[in-house]
Amino acid sequence: MFKAKAYSASSATSPLASTTISRRDPTDRDVQIEILFCGICHSDLHYARDEWHDVMPTVYPCVPGHEIVGRVTKVGSAVTKFKLNDVVGVGCLVDSDGTCPQCKAGFENFCPKQVLTYGSPDRHKTAAVTYGGYSDSVVVDERFVLRIPTKLNLAGAAPLLCAGITTYSPMRHWGVAKGKKVGVVGLGGLGHMGVKFAHAFGAHTVVFTTSPKKKEDALRLGADEVVVSRHADEMNKHAGSFDFILDCVAAEHDINAYINLLARDGNITLVGAPEKPLSVSAFGLIFGRRSLSGSPIGGIAETQEMLDFCGQHNITADVEVIPIQMVNEAYERMVKSDAKYRFSIDMASLKSA
Ligand code: NAP
Ligand code: ZN
Repeated sequence: MFKAKAYSASSATSPLASTTISRRDPTDRDVQIEILFCGICHSDLHYARDEWHDVMPTVYPCVPGHEIVGRVTKVGSAVTKFKLNDVVGVGCLVDSDGTCPQCKAGFENFCPKQVLTYGSPDRHKTAAVTYGGYSDSVVVDERFVLRIPTKLNLAGAAPLLCAGITTYSPMRHWGVAKGKKVGVVGLGGLGHMGVKFAHAFGAHTVVFTTSPKKKEDALRLGADEVVVSRHADEMNKHAGSFDFILDCVAAEHDINAYINLLARDGNITLVGAPEKPLSVSAFGLIFGRRSLSGSPIGGIAETQEMLDFCGQHNITADVEVIPIQMVNEAYERMVKSDAKYRFSIDMASLKSA
């Protein structure tokens, strides 16, 4: 084992603070990574504050971070995909059983034995649970390490590992393409990636936001139209017209207002994971045979496909690069819907922490 610097939360109400954690020495199949950038996902905040207590209680201390980009500093003897100095990424998953039907089909994100990058029981017993990317290093099985296209800006590439795949995957699944009308609800980290992908796939893209001042940004990011969701008349104009809506909202909101905007057989997929259950009117779904579903991140092969797509189309997140000492401030701004549009931590700042 070796020591790594990190930032952790010690309780639901304590701010994140500098700490030292243990990392395992790489096994034959492991890759050791020096972390260069780590995005801040709203899930990090939900988890650090134990907001998902009923579904996934937080184990403290917790080290969040699952939008990791870094450089390979060591490889195990059986590693074949990576070599020293490769630029690589790690997302929300670091292991799975590899043998179940889900894993065999490339859906590690549905494996019942998946190991999350932070907060899952640590099979290697380095600590009680896995520790995430708010750290200077991480050691990961090569099957869960991704290749980052060389031309991408690394601070902006980090959020692709969660915000990117979480929006790319359901859009691919539900056939977002030219000729479709697609809505993206909530212009935050996930939402702004959703807009970029919907636009890149050729769909007519409409952003729904509660923040009128984000209108110009939404258009710049690729939206064809922007609707301020608090204005009922603007919402009503779109009634019954959408093929697909991606709901990226992190807090309680009225989902029925969006179900009513779907066309016949339209689908709304939840990727946002508010702490409290949403209330759904049966009639909104019945009239129009509409469907409501959810989607968790994506499998490893699809994550690599998404990264390669981003390499080809030069897609990265719009990031505000911050030192790790500003992480608590970034959390407060995220709660106020003021991330523009993802914070990316420059991990060099951890050296002076
Ligand atoms: P974020 O950057 O904070 O963005 C959330 C956006 O939701 C805000 O920018 C805001 O957009 C909108 N919003 C916030 N509060 C609202 C309210 N009360 N009513 C209506 N809209 C509101 O968060 P994120 O990192 O994109 O994550 C979004 C959600 O997805 C989180 O719950 C996160 O845990 C979840 N998530 C799920 C997966 C998955 O696999 N399914 C993966 C990653 C994250 P406007 O200002 O435009 O209204
Ligand atoms: Zn995330």
